[in-house]
Amino acid sequence: MTALEGARERRVHTGGIDLCVLELGDPSAPTVVLVHGYPDSKEVWSEVATRLAGRFHVVLYDVRGHGRSTAPKPLRGGFTLAKLTDDFLAVVDAVSPDRPVHLVGHDWGSVQSWEFVTVGRTEGRVASFTSMSGPSLDHFGHWIDARVKRPTPRRVGQLLGQGAKSWYVYLLHTPVVPELAWRGPLGRSWPGILRRAEGLPTDDYPTASLRSDAAHGAWLYRDNVRPRLRRPREDAYAHAPVQLITPLGDAFLSERLYDDLEHWVPRLTLRTLPDKHWIPRTRPDQVSAWIEEFVLAVESGQDAQPPRADRHAQRFGGQLVLVTGAGSGIGRATAFAFAEAGARVVAVDRDGEAAARTAELARLTGAADAWAETADVSDEQAMEKLAEKVHGAYGVVDVLVNNAGIGLSGSFFTTTPEDWRRVLDVNLWGVIHGCRLFGARMAERGQGGHIVNVASAAAYQPSRALPAYSTSKAAVLMLSECLRAELADRRIGVSAVCPGFVNTNITSTARFTGVDEQEQRRRRQRSARLYGMRNYPPEKVASAILDAVERNRAVVPVTPEARGMRALSRLVPGMSRRLAKVEPKV
Ligand code: NAP
Repeated sequence: MTALEGARERRVHTGGIDLCVLELGDPSAPTVVLVHGYPDSKEVWSEVATRLAGRFHVVLYDVRGHGRSTAPKPLRGGFTLAKLTDDFLAVVDAVSPDRPVHLVGHDWGSVQSWEFVTVGRTEGRVASFTSMSGPSLDHFGHWIDARVKRPTPRRVGQLLGQGAKSWYVYLLHTPVVPELAWRGPLGRSWPGILRRAEGLPTDDYPTASLRSDAAHGAWLYRDNVRPRLRRPREDAYAHAPVQLITPLGDAFLSERLYDDLEHWVPRLTLRTLPDKHWIPRTRPDQVSAWIEEFVLAVESGQDAQPPRADRHAQRFGGQLVLVTGAGSGIGRATAFAFAEAGARVVAVDRDGEAAARTAELARLTGAADAWAETADVSDEQAMEKLAEKVHGAYGVVDVLVNNAGIGLSGSFFTTTPEDWRRVLDVNLWGVIHGCRLFGARMAERGQGGHIVNVASAAAYQPSRALPAYSTSKAAVLMLSECLRAELADRRIGVSAVCPGFVNTNITSTARFTGVDEQEQRRRRQRSARLYGMRNYPPEKVASAILDAVERNRAVVPVTPEARGMRALSRLVPGMSRRLAKVEPKV
């Protein structure tokens, strides 16, 4: 059974065309209209539509000439933006005659939706627009114009970059060849290409109409692209709030295309996703969550807040982030940084009160939501329980930060087997449990994600004073590298973050081996003083963690000394070994 079976079907007649329209959900709820792209049919939305149907009246239709809608005769001139706007108005008049609709478009569905949200005759019929991977041809025309008339090296680079990505648009303008290719070899191999190049699950998609959809849809380009790019409209201003979701790895569209968008859209919300072009298929959870959040905000009149132009907010808004060791230091600062970016945060610590305080402050800092959970990361059963609870109550995490860790200092021969067990249990096994339990669900979901493991500069800089701690962190670093290789083709990134000396509470809780209690206290106080004098704030590590996720970086040394030690260990390992022999004065 395909995801859309059970949807209600109706036919809408307009301008000699018979459009196939499907409806899901309660017709009295706000209406969300999903418009598909090229070479697709409405089924590209099946995953998103079923997720939205619990809350909204969801409407999908096959664009003229696609799927089970009829094609204009002749094809030439039958796909102009004016005619597509007629179709859209006919559909919304039929499905939501009394209330404006929330429009969502992908690819050419987005290109035509930009027309719907910027022309006068649709004013009052569109409540909001969510755009994915399809710019307004008018905005694109002005974007090109600005770069041709006022070239700078950067602008020329942008023009050439987008020009290269548009190779298929030139091909689609050639007569007959695209039709022959789609009806022949390209049509046959397209599902395989989507699977390999885009990582798309292709079970109920593309549909059997692919070849004729693609052949007819070539006229979308031929009827519109050249005329509009040559003479873009001067008044293409959006008359409804717009949410732009940009996949950062889109092979067909450059992010820079949207640089001037604030000029055209007075109420703009920006989102980014580290994925390729077909995000309605590869990221249906995130795409549906953002559509839902945006539609509900517009419905309740809240979208008038200034747009969140912050890069981290665009990337992490609404995402589910779990941080261990979030009751103090780097973990707490990381929870706050994600909260500030509008994420939903789960703060985990063995100290329940400290975790609760972090969650409370995270809510005040701007988190979409925040919860506290108590768990000892070294306890396998406690971690299993935690994973079960988080998955059941909050969902699959998008970003996991395995941060909880303890310090241990002392020579090899004063480090007891119990010391070894304790430090490896928390610093290494804690990370293993986290990756295993939360990473497995991330991989199973098949919609990407990111794991950050907080290691240390001690992972690559040996020291006679830190054999157990350094070993635990070196293991975390290697685990992260191995896992990164394994999870890459599931679009899950793994980063090892390696800070140097950071001013946190770790110095007051770290254990020093081979000394009595009094000496232990003295050493803790002294190292706390030294770290205090160094005074590198955990907030800077938190910011590096968000950057590491955003840029999918493999190994991230944080603090100048951590970067220096990394350089030393790679370029002059002999020097790094000599440094390891220095006895620290504590
Ligand atoms: P911190 O201020 O002591 O914070 C660590 C937090 O983790 C504390 O709330 C701690 O709770 C919690 N925790 C410890 N063991 C746990 C367990 N088994 N289960 C759950 N929570 C646990 O230390 P931090 O400096 O932020 O350290 C965070 C991470 O950064 C650690 O992995 C550390 O090794 C690493 N790191 C720190 C530095 C540095 O200079 N600070 C440098 C490099 C790497 P308690 O307070 O109850 O112990």
